[in-house]
Amino acid sequence: TQNKKLGLTGKILIGMGGGILFGLLIRSLFPDSQFIEEYITNGLLNVVGTIFISSLQMLVVPLVFISLVCGTCSLSDPSTLGRLGGKTIAFYLFTTAIALSMAILIALLIHPGNASLAAENMQYAVKEAPSLSNVLINLVPRNPIQAMTEGNMLQIIIFAVIFGFAVSHIGERGKRVAALFTDLNEVIMRVVTLIMQLAPYGIFALMGKLALTLGLETFESVLKYFFVVLGVLLIHAFIVYPTLLKVFSGLSPFTFIRKMRDVQLFAFSTASSNATLPVTIETAEHRLGVDNKVASFTLPLGATINMDGTAIMQGVATVFIAQVFGIDLTITDYAMVVVTATLASIGTAGVPGVGLIMLAMVLNQVGLPVEGIALIMGVDRLLDMVRTAVNVTGDSVATVVIAKSEGAFDEVTFNDSQAGKTAG
Ligand code: ASP
Repeated sequence: TQNKKLGLTGKILIGMGGGILFGLLIRSLFPDSQFIEEYITNGLLNVVGTIFISSLQMLVVPLVFISLVCGTCSLSDPSTLGRLGGKTIAFYLFTTAIALSMAILIALLIHPGNASLAAENMQYAVKEAPSLSNVLINLVPRNPIQAMTEGNMLQIIIFAVIFGFAVSHIGERGKRVAALFTDLNEVIMRVVTLIMQLAPYGIFALMGKLALTLGLETFESVLKYFFVVLGVLLIHAFIVYPTLLKVFSGLSPFTFIRKMRDVQLFAFSTASSNATLPVTIETAEHRLGVDNKVASFTLPLGATINMDGTAIMQGVATVFIAQVFGIDLTITDYAMVVVTATLASIGTAGVPGVGLIMLAMVLNQVGLPVEGIALIMGVDRLLDMVRTAVNVTGDSVATVVIAKSEGAFDEVTFNDSQAGKTAG
């Protein structure tokens, strides 16, 4: 069984590399762009890749609802829930603020923006970012079924918490409902492990399509921007998070990083925190030793509001665009960037590419030209993949830290390298 799971990470990596090579190969064999365009939309790669993402997304709504009802059933005391929520949100904000400050400082030091870029390719249609009052109003679902069909995560979370809470307050009958949800949770987890077995093929297809779409040429003009974002993302993932984990929970960052590998690969290939959520939850509960009552709450919430990787991209992009357009920002402007980019990353949905749309909100706030987004669009897809891996890592660090502080953590599972490796 160990080989099987070790094999999974290996197979995913092979699928990834193979997919990229395959895509680049097809691209060079058929220089006729019409054919490639046709293949990108109708070819087998697209079919397999889309089915893979859909099969993950298929689980997200039932999983979040069922798992969170299970989680809240076991918290019969409202103050526990309040404390948990408070801690979680505070930790999420804290890490996002670190991410942003670091992104802005490093971007200022390295100065990736070059004023000569400004003339190139400048069309970008601005999309509306939602206003704060609307965000608040939309927290409570008017219709929970609609919230589920739309996949509105915050609304589902609110409904599930209220529902689970009521379950824990109706005595014996509540216990029956809770037992039912616990069993349903097992069923969904089982489906997650099945889909994980198919991931190498799905990931092959996703990578193949990506390589086919992008080719190698996209980069040149914004190479420096690309590497600054990438560098800060890597620092955040491999220095900041491990340090926070060590400081706040005393646990081994190496064990954590090793166990996060599959989750990160899923996030990287799907570029969606939401689609990765089933794998994140499975890993937190079965491999990291986090109790369901914490994981079921913190992870869906994190996949929705905690986007450190996205905040990093937005911080660097703002500095970059200011430099390209030769606009000097003041200290107050930078403070503004930290605040709005935090809000923007909270407002970013955990699906591919949204971080770039929300960047418009940050640029508007400090009076930078929104068309600047056009400059960085070309490389955003790849950065989206890396930042999504950072986003889910951040959710998982927070989950472990909070679970440990709540005594809802099994250190034996965390330290056991075999834990959770057998698929049920
Ligand atoms: N794709 C990112 C995520 O799902 C969000 C973004 O930055 O676009 O976490």
